[in-house]
Amino acid sequence: AVTGLHVTPNGRIPNGTLKQQANSQSERIQVIDDEKAFTQTLNAQIERWGLYDAGFSYNIVAVFGSQSTGKSTLLNRLFGTTFDVMDESKRQQTTKGIWMCRGQNMNVMVMDVEGTDGRERGEDQDFERKSALFSLASSEILIVNLWEHQVGLYQGANMGLLKTVFEVNLGLFGKKSPDGTNSRTLLLFVIRDHIGVTPLANLQATLTADMNRIWESLSKPTELKDRVLSDYFDLAFTTLPHKILSADKFEAEVQDLRRRFADKDHEGYLFKPAYHKRIPADGVAFYMENIWEQVQTNKDLDLPTQQELLAQFRCDEISGVALADFNEQAKSQKRPIESGRVIEGLGAMMRKWRTEALTRYDRDASRYHQGVYKRKRVDLISALDSTLSPLFLGQLKNLHKSCLVAFKQEMLDGMRGNDYSFADVVLKAQAQCEKRFQEGATEALVEETDWVWADELELLRDETRSVADQCRKDETKKMVNLIERNFKKQVSEPVELALNKAAPGMWDSVLLAFKDTLDKAETTYLMKAKSFNCTDEENETSLATLRKRAWLALRAKIDEQTADAVILSKLRGYFEERFRYDDQGVPRVWKPDDDIDSVYKKAKDQTLELIPLYAKISPSDPSLAFSLPSESSDPLSGEEFDFDATLIVFSETKALELINKFRRDADAYYVEAKRSTVASIAQ
Ligand code: GDP
Ligand code: MG
Repeated sequence: AVTGLHVTPNGRIPNGTLKQQANSQSERIQVIDDEKAFTQTLNAQIERWGLYDAGFSYNIVAVFGSQSTGKSTLLNRLFGTTFDVMDESKRQQTTKGIWMCRGQNMNVMVMDVEGTDGRERGEDQDFERKSALFSLASSEILIVNLWEHQVGLYQGANMGLLKTVFEVNLGLFGKKSPDGTNSRTLLLFVIRDHIGVTPLANLQATLTADMNRIWESLSKPTELKDRVLSDYFDLAFTTLPHKILSADKFEAEVQDLRRRFADKDHEGYLFKPAYHKRIPADGVAFYMENIWEQVQTNKDLDLPTQQELLAQFRCDEISGVALADFNEQAKSQKRPIESGRVIEGLGAMMRKWRTEALTRYDRDASRYHQGVYKRKRVDLISALDSTLSPLFLGQLKNLHKSCLVAFKQEMLDGMRGNDYSFADVVLKAQAQCEKRFQEGATEALVEETDWVWADELELLRDETRSVADQCRKDETKKMVNLIERNFKKQVSEPVELALNKAAPGMWDSVLLAFKDTLDKAETTYLMKAKSFNCTDEENETSLATLRKRAWLALRAKIDEQTADAVILSKLRGYFEERFRYDDQGVPRVWKPDDDIDSVYKKAKDQTLELIPLYAKISPSDPSLAFSLPSESSDPLSGEEFDFDATLIVFSETKALELINKFRRDADAYYVEAKRSTVASIAQ
């Protein structure tokens, strides 16, 4: 057994150890010891032999035969192995058990089965049976080693051994494996100490006859009663001369036989593919241990079940290794994603990790039971994808966010200056945003998954739409404010002029100026609004706001022009013009016989007529009348609005107050006029 060797928990040797063990190829291992216990280091040993990754490119051969018939000697000569050979001088009994070596310069595992000739001692038949089962379940070739003089001795120990082998074989391979293959085994008879008197053909005929007789004598289950020996076994025969008496010939013929094991192109090549038991090299140790356990506990050895168990164990192991490396890789991007970053080339990375893991799994696991391999592959894929899926979703989320940020920036950039079409800016930014998202999302996709991103795109679209809508509303507001400011500027002068000329057509002029200016403002709005892609409804609302604000601006101007001081000065001016100047506009100089009272009264009455004129906005031409829907409330302030009330410039109370104030002014003029005549008389 291998001693002092550090082995990892899964039975493999840590990397680097192999190189240090230059001579590990010639190491041997006791697979089953004389206590019938299975070794714990077979896996490690197979690795040290350099066969662990051989897949199916290896062979197994076992030897059977009576004790001290030169079996170990033969194997060592044939395969360059290091099995113990009985020391001639001591003649000590070799131990029982199964040993294994690696063939030198060939991918062959050689099993030396010891202590199989205990015919006389009943207790050993148990081990014989068990080792036969064990060997048949894994070996391609069973070498049956016997002396020439044993041939034909039907009662001999060898024949009992063969009977056991046949019986055991029926149990193992009788019910053919599902695909009908891998159940053939080659029995290679090596006849030792061949003197040469009896030709091989005769010996072969005798042995074949014996074999068939044994086969006939087996009690077979009914469903297998028609099976013949050749359904399960190929037979081959060879002789070897006496090792000591014909040493040179012995050596030469052993070398010939060696070539039939080693050289695939040899016409007598013995390892035919049909004999291979199809256990991948990395599963041999687990498989053999399970077989031995079944055999030991005398359970029915069902090979298909064993193969499936092996496949489950190994596929899980292989999948676990692939998954561990994969998880390590995937973990590296978990944090960046969670921190909100969009990872450049994430999709390529994920596809690479996934492919690597599956390739690795396929390489090692596809050699095992196909049903199990495929089932575990589905499990592996779902484990891989469930690790990748959060990365994909995280990437989508982050992409969504960054695209929206970029969209807003693009909108801002596009709306710099005054010379832009809002609709074009939105269209361009939206197209750019969608393109960016689609490219990012497509990159992050992993084929063969059911991942989608259409919903996320739809969400992003909705959000860009509502951002654009908000921008448009802000822009429209700004524009309406600007137009309102311009309107105020433009309407101010003509209104002031009209209100200074108190006459029946005064309001007509005011309203005409108002309507002209408002028309211009509305045209400006509609022109600009075209590029905003505003809806008709939005335009209607904006125009209504504009009209109302224009009207309120006009009213403010009118209020300013009809404030107490202003209107009183207007009235005074009007009165003075009529009282202190004559019809030719010449200042009057009152003489004592002038009819001051009449002139005063007339001027006063004419002036007082102005008060009702100013009191209400009412054009003489009804077509100039302006109106606004009263119930509408300003969308900005939300205040109630009563249009008719806005037509009243001042109330009746206010009018009376003005009349009184004006009268006092007029009276003062009158008194002043009277005084001036008195003064002129007094002179
Ligand atoms: P095993 O018990 O079958 O493995 O036999 P061993 O290989 O240990 O050999 C038992 C004895 O037989 C040893 O003393 C060998 O030297 C001797 N021996 C080996 N090969 C031959 C052979 O071809 N002919 C004869 N007569 N003796 C052999
Ligand atoms: Mg031996």
